Amino acid sequence: MTNRPAPLATLPDADFYGFEDLLSDTEKNKLTELRNFLAAEVLPHAVHWWNEARFPSELLPKLAALELSTPVQQGYSPLFAGLVIAEMTRADTSLATFFMVHHDLFVEALHAFGSDEQKERLLDDARALRITGAFALTEPEHGSDVAGGMATTAVRDGDEWVLNGAKRWIGNGTFCDYMVLWAREPETGRTRGFLLDATLPGVTRTRIENKTALRTVQNADIVLTDVRVSAADLLAGVESFDDTKELLRGSRIMVGWQAVGTQLATFDVARAYAVDRLQFGRPLAAFQLIQQQLVQILGNAVASTGMLARVTELEHGGYPVLSADGSPGASPADGGAARGEMARAALAKSYASARMRESVALGRSILGGNGIVTDYRMAKIFADAEAIYTYEGTYEINTLIVGRDITGVSALR
Ligand SMILES: Cc1cc2nc3c(=O)[nH]c(=O)nc-3n(C[C@H](O)[C@H](O)[C@H](O)COP(=O)(O)OP(=O)(O)OC[C@H]3O[C@@H](n4cnc5c(N)ncnc54)[C@H](O)[C@@H]3O)c2cc1C
Repeated sequence: MTNRPAPLATLPDADFYGFEDLLSDTEKNKLTELRNFLAAEVLPHAVHWWNEARFPSELLPKLAALELSTPVQQGYSPLFAGLVIAEMTRADTSLATFFMVHHDLFVEALHAFGSDEQKERLLDDARALRITGAFALTEPEHGSDVAGGMATTAVRDGDEWVLNGAKRWIGNGTFCDYMVLWAREPETGRTRGFLLDATLPGVTRTRIENKTALRTVQNADIVLTDVRVSAADLLAGVESFDDTKELLRGSRIMVGWQAVGTQLATFDVARAYAVDRLQFGRPLAAFQLIQQQLVQILGNAVASTGMLARVTELEHGGYPVLSADGSPGASPADGGAARGEMARAALAKSYASARMRESVALGRSILGGNGIVTDYRMAKIFADAEAIYTYEGTYEINTLIVGRDITGVSALR
């Protein structure tokens, strides 16, 4: 007997515990609008863009029309903001990465640390993607240790600052209009942030070629040679590297949501393949070992979603605790903050990205040989997962941040 599986449409979704059910009706409708957009405008083309290593700039007006820039600031819930990134990643990790670099790093930096004049000048255009932004922190010689080792310098000269140095891996860096660029004052060691017009004389941008992950994202090497920046473009609210870290904490959590989205995509693709593909006269899905692998992917995805859902709530103050009579009580966030907000974000990112790595390896294996050609999507998902594992603090660095928090002893210097 063939033991044909049920039609895919009648099988449960990868959101097995129904996290989406926790959203308001407005948010559910908005997520459906996003899904329809991704199904129509992104999924049919994403592998082609990736193979060609081409960023689809023609998509930007339609992406902006969804009005999903920094959802929490618009009044949406933290869970909704996370699920937006997970859904985008589920369709295309590169698109989600572009979106996060622009909105969760560039727009957030402008919002959090920009002067009134800077916000007036740039914020509306940035939210509507009429201008695009990047976030330039990592350097050729300083990745994990950039906090202490940043070599790019900013020297005040009258009404201007003079920037010298180099940045590496800068997402959107080849085409962005502006980048939030981090540099250090040599005399004081103080970290400064700039809203750098990427077309200024002395800024050289070179695309990083031959990537095996996130090929649609345009990463750049940036060289700064005596770049003169108006004092009006200093990010006014930045006091120290702690402000940089605050931005990274928020985007680190969003990268955790990318690890969730990657696993949802893995489950979608691997299960569909297992249900469809016949070997030994039976669907792969009928074999016990394949079922176990699919269940492991699902369990990893659900566990990662639960962890990210909670850390995202905590990051935004937590849900209010109701008293016994149902009236609002104390916020649970106070106790959480004392435990180290960065460590909480780091644990979510490192755990979810480790589960993701297991999941994509299983998914790739379920597709057999077809798991290594991008035509079947799984190879692209598998490759892109490696970037998620590394950026926004590598697995190791995030682990050591948690290790420091739980032991009181730093393994980092
Ligand atoms: C696709 C992609 C996009 C990116 N986009 C951006 C961007 O838009 N803007 C930006 O500023 N940066 C960006 N980055 C840079 C990213 O943040 C860095 O790659 C990351 O911080 C790691 O730095 P590194 O690559 O120099 O590795 P390294 O720091 O050289 O680390 C190499 C290895 O050593 C390990 N290691 C280092 N120190 C320790 C230690 N003390 N203990 C144990 N292990 C250690 C690391 O975990 C890693 O496994 C991007 C990177 C990638 C790959």
